[in-house]
Amino acid sequence: MSAHLTLTAAGLYCPQAGIHIDPVRPVARAVITHGHADHARAGHGAVLATAETLAIMAARYGAGFCGTAQALGYGETLTLGVVRLSLHPAGHVLGSAQVLLESAGRRTVVSGDYKRQPDPTCAPFEPVACDTFVTEATFGLPVFRHPPASEEIARLLASQALFSDRTHLVGAYALGKAQRLLAELRAAGYDRTVYLHGALEALTALYEAHGIALGPVAPVGARGRELAGEIVLCPPGQLTDRWARRFADPVTAMASGWMRARARARQRGAELPLIVSDHADWDGLCRTVLETGAEEIWVTHGAEEALVHWCESVGRKARPLNMIAYGEEDDADSARIEAP
Ligand SMILES: [Zn+2]
Ligand SMILES: [Zn+2]
Repeated sequence: MSAHLTLTAAGLYCPQAGIHIDPVRPVARAVITHGHADHARAGHGAVLATAETLAIMAARYGAGFCGTAQALGYGETLTLGVVRLSLHPAGHVLGSAQVLLESAGRRTVVSGDYKRQPDPTCAPFEPVACDTFVTEATFGLPVFRHPPASEEIARLLASQALFSDRTHLVGAYALGKAQRLLAELRAAGYDRTVYLHGALEALTALYEAHGIALGPVAPVGARGRELAGEIVLCPPGQLTDRWARRFADPVTAMASGWMRARARARQRGAELPLIVSDHADWDGLCRTVLETGAEEIWVTHGAEEALVHWCESVGRKARPLNMIAYGEEDDADSARIEAP
């Protein structure tokens, strides 16, 4: 039993505070953990989120994406009825937050999506002590272990040096992944212009506007063969699209935690799979569960059964929520891509 949450058709609901968290259908009052399309939907009455998440939602859905929007910074507290609510960094994408609900000495944390690897484009995950911890389990199997992003970037740059007359076309989700790749390339000393598919431009500019330096970028626009030897970022769906044929014998790469699975890489058309994920891997999930000190774990989506089983094996109560509306946000992103 969580002291604060019940599961409704619209998603996680806190009756004492009168709020839904990341609701999957329109509600009166919503708290949004981050801007990915499966968590942040348009059409709610009032929305509470970090200023960055509100800016991302406005960029994607237009300024009228909700009735009224209220920003709350990390660590600030809002009182809703008997409940004290605060937001804490989740380390997933710019503005991503965990939601802490407190009342009568009980604490519940809804983490949204999160990761434990360092990411130069967002505030690092902060473990928050609680009684009930609500976690994702996107990569909730021991086979999923994400290497440091710097190793994967080094593989991309080695391939570029080897195939210096081929365009390196890298599939990356529009929110978070594309910007993280840019930042990791810069951290590796890569200072050349990186070319962007049109669908990645707005959110990359939004990150820059929030003070995340991503170095020189330019739109692909009508260019094709003249980008031989360059790095181009595009939404994953474009790797196998007609759009990709404009480049000179491209090396197709894809940046995703799923690239650990060879079949997925093949399905995505990725010659060069790069294991770069914005979700916690198996070790990250297990470590986080322990660090929160929670006695009860709710698992929203992903490989729930394995994580539930592991939680029970270390003496925690655990409950799978089977929230199928959450998932590969990134497919939702791809679905929203307009024609280039
Ligand atoms: Zn997400
Ligand atoms: Zn998600």
